Amino acid sequence: NLAKQRLPSYEGLERFKLLDKLGDGAFSNVYKALDLETKEKVAIKAVRKFELKPQQVIYIYMAVIIEKDTHFLLLASVLKEVQIMRTIKHPNIVQLKGFIETKGYYFIILELCEGGEIFHQIVRFTYFSEDLARHCVRQVAEAIQYLHEEKGVVHRDIKPENLLFDPIPIAPRTSTPPPMQPGDDDKEDEGEFIDGVGGGGIGRVKIADFGLSKVVWDQNTQTPCGTVGYTAPEIVKDERYSKSVDMWALGCVLYTLLCGFPPFYDESIQVLTEKVAKGQYTFLSPWWDPISEEAKDLIEHLLCIDPEERYTIKQFMKHPWMRTSSSLLKITE
Ligand code: ADP
Ligand code: MG
Repeated sequence: NLAKQRLPSYEGLERFKLLDKLGDGAFSNVYKALDLETKEKVAIKAVRKFELKPQQVIYIYMAVIIEKDTHFLLLASVLKEVQIMRTIKHPNIVQLKGFIETKGYYFIILELCEGGEIFHQIVRFTYFSEDLARHCVRQVAEAIQYLHEEKGVVHRDIKPENLLFDPIPIAPRTSTPPPMQPGDDDKEDEGEFIDGVGGGGIGRVKIADFGLSKVVWDQNTQTPCGTVGYTAPEIVKDERYSKSVDMWALGCVLYTLLCGFPPFYDESIQVLTEKVAKGQYTFLSPWWDPISEEAKDLIEHLLCIDPEERYTIKQFMKHPWMRTSSSLLKITE
């Protein structure tokens, strides 16, 4: 196995044995690892520092400035990610287990999610049944409710790549697959149909990646951070409504789970940006034809351009589609 041969050995990380690479990023690599002290499997996010060698410093003056800025920005964002994660404990959020800083790297030690990304399950199964989508989105919503209402934290990067899961053991199938869709011919055979209790079942879903998250609400006073008396209205408003960015993203996730493609898409970034700005999306036929009106109504309340009108997490939880009980297994502690 090539991937295994290429696993690096990091100085300062002797307590762990790297087992596999789980993710790649511009500044970070994520590994599955064994904690040799506790014998527990964990995930380790290794973030490269940009330590400049003396020879590089004299290279090009501007480049040095840019590299240095990158370094400081990275330092600030890694520390912020860890700082925010330290205060957070919820069954639907990837738990921070430790933080190690060495000369060249920051290592963020995380609870391991064996199932990987929800994103890969969409690619694998094309789309989810309404029951399975509800099963996933409900857990994401529980996490968002905890972040928004108890912690005053906005995640700001909710997407299928940052939603991980623990698989549940294979059990007999109890529900029937949805009607055939165009392009179904090349899908996995019926036995692989994903319904939360069948093959490849999704158990507990967890939000990962707090790299872009932000604290916007004072936990104790339940007011925006800073002294409100002197804060400009656009700041107060911005803080109040920034939580709504997670609700928009939740709408995009729900849309994508149900049909297998995102609500906004274009090859050109410019056109895509325009579509998002105008809230230009449709429930494309024939893919959306079999999906319930309640699901569409919920999505319409989330993909709503005006953040003041967009559903809050409280309103989301009370929507009839969310309150429909599903035939899926209940996840217990
Ligand atoms: P980035 O900032 O590079 O997006 P992430 O924290 O999102 O970093 O991690 C990148 C990828 O690594 C994720 O999309 C996921 O595939 C994998 N990953 C991250 N954390 C875990 C974890 N705790 N368990 C399993 N896989 C993980
Ligand atoms: Mg990510």
